[in-house]
Amino acid sequence: MKPPVFDYVAPWSIPEAVDALGDPSRSAAVIAGGQSLLLEMHLTRRAPDLVVDINRIAGLDGLGVDGGALRVGALVRHAAFEAPHAVPGPLGALFGQAVTNIAHPPIRARGTLAGSLAWAHPASEWCAVAVALDAGVALQDRDGVREVAARDYFLGPYRTARRPGELITSVRFPLLGDDTGVGFIEHRRTHFSFATVAVSAALTVRDGVISDARIGLANAADRPVRASAAERSLIGAGAGEPLSGRITDDHLFGRAGRIAAEQDASPVAEPYADAGYKRQVVAVLVGRALRQAATDQRARAGHRTEGPR
Ligand SMILES: Cc1cc2nc3c(=O)[nH]c(=O)nc-3n(C[C@H](O)[C@H](O)[C@H](O)COP(=O)(O)OP(=O)(O)OC[C@H]3O[C@@H](n4cnc5c(N)ncnc54)[C@H](O)[C@@H]3O)c2cc1C
Repeated sequence: MKPPVFDYVAPWSIPEAVDALGDPSRSAAVIAGGQSLLLEMHLTRRAPDLVVDINRIAGLDGLGVDGGALRVGALVRHAAFEAPHAVPGPLGALFGQAVTNIAHPPIRARGTLAGSLAWAHPASEWCAVAVALDAGVALQDRDGVREVAARDYFLGPYRTARRPGELITSVRFPLLGDDTGVGFIEHRRTHFSFATVAVSAALTVRDGVISDARIGLANAADRPVRASAAERSLIGAGAGEPLSGRITDDHLFGRAGRIAAEQDASPVAEPYADAGYKRQVVAVLVGRALRQAATDQRARAGHRTEGPR
C-alpha cells in the first residue's frame, strides 16, 4: 500500500527539528531509522502530515561515557552495539547479547535504540533493558529539555510519557560495575519474529552475597516491566556458601523465575502464545538469564582475582 501524502523536512539542528515538531497545526512524526515508522505508514496505521527527518543533525549519533553513564544519541543504530568494546564492561556485554536478538542485519543497520524507545513495542529488547537498568530518556521540545526515568516512561503498548512535539535526543544508561554479571535470553517463534518473551538480567555480588538484581521482561505484559518481586527474592542470597554451584543456583534462580511468572508478569495473549504459555516461558527464561548472569559474574570475579599475567 502507498502511504497518504505527507510533507517532509530534514532540519540541520535540534532547535529546527523541535520547532517543526511543535507546530500545533500539524500532526508531525520524527523519522530516525524508519524501520517501524515507514511500515506503519505503508500499512496506513500512521498518517502524519509532516515527517521530520533527524538524520542530518550533527551530534545525535554520539555514543560515549559521561559521568558514570552511557549516553546513546538518538541516531545511534542498533548495529553500533554489535562492535566489540563499543560499550565498556558488563553493560557492553549485555548490549552485545541483546542486540543480536533484534530483527536482522539490514534492520539493525538503520534502526535506532532511541527509535525503539519512542515506538515502545512491548516486545522490544531495548525497552526491557531500559526498565531493568533505570535508564533515563532525554526529551526536548520548544520549551526545553527534561529527562524521564524508564519506569515512568512506558505507559502501555506503543504509549509513552513523550509529549507531542518532544524529540528524544539521547538515552542514558548507568554503567554496571565489574562485580556485576549479565545475561540476556529470548524465545521467539522464528528467527526473525519479535520475542514471545525476552529477559534481561544483571546480578551484582559483593562478598559472596547478591547485593543487587535487575530483571527486565519484554512481552510479558502490555509494556516492558521490571520483575521486582523476583529481584527481591534474590537480594541477600548467597551468604555462607556463596552461590557456590549449580544446585544453589537452580533452586534460587528457578524460584525467582516462578515468582516473576506469577507476580511480575501480566501477559497479553497473542495468536501463537496464550497468557498461560507466556507465564511458563517467563519462568524458564528468567531462571536461565539469571544463571547466565551468575556465570558471567563468576568469570569476571575470577578474572579480577587472577589479575594480568
Ligand atoms: C521485519 C522487522 C523486524 C523487527 N524486529 C524487531 C525486533 O525483534 N525487536 C525490536 O525491538 N524491534 C524490531 N523491529 C523494529 C526495529 O528495531 C526499529 O528499528 C525500531 O523499532 C525503531 O527504530 P527506528 O530508528 O527505525 O525508528 P523509526 O521507524 O524512524 O520511528 C519509529 C517511531 O519512533 C518515533 N521516533 C523515532 N526516533 C525518535 C526520536 N528520536 N524522538 C522522538 N520520536 C522518535 C517515530 O516518529 C515513530 O513513531 C523490527 C522491524 C522490522 C521491520
